[in-house]
Amino acid sequence: MLQKKGVKELEGIFLSHGHKDHAGNLEMLLQEYSVKKLYLSGKDDASYKKTDAKALAKEYDVSVTELAGGENLDLGGAIGEIWLPDKTNYENENNNSVVMRLAYGKTAWYRFYFRWKRSKCLFD
Ligand SMILES: [Zn+2]
Repeated sequence: MLQKKGVKELEGIFLSHGHKDHAGNLEMLLQEYSVKKLYLSGKDDASYKKTDAKALAKEYDVSVTELAGGENLDLGGAIGEIWLPDKTNYENENNNSVVMRLAYGKTAWYRFYFRWKRSKCLFD
């Protein structure tokens, strides 16, 4: 899809967590595109054992931002509000995922990878 749109450069890549189905193609992206930043959870030292994203970023000279939660990132006119769990969950690594509320003007999206019960709590 990126190739069809003629994209050659990526301002940044956000990895929700390090499992293969979310981060498994990171190296392919770093090979194919010029990437400026890689955003990772600074509180997840569990799921990134499956994909060593920091080592890949270093290999491809990509700047790494480890998110702490609570950031409001300026993403070219959109604001990415970052939410992270308070502590690492070693029983279910999916629950360590980065959650981002992306707001552009009056429109906002949530991107998350929590199980439904958990994500529902976020909005109660
Ligand atoms: Zn996962």
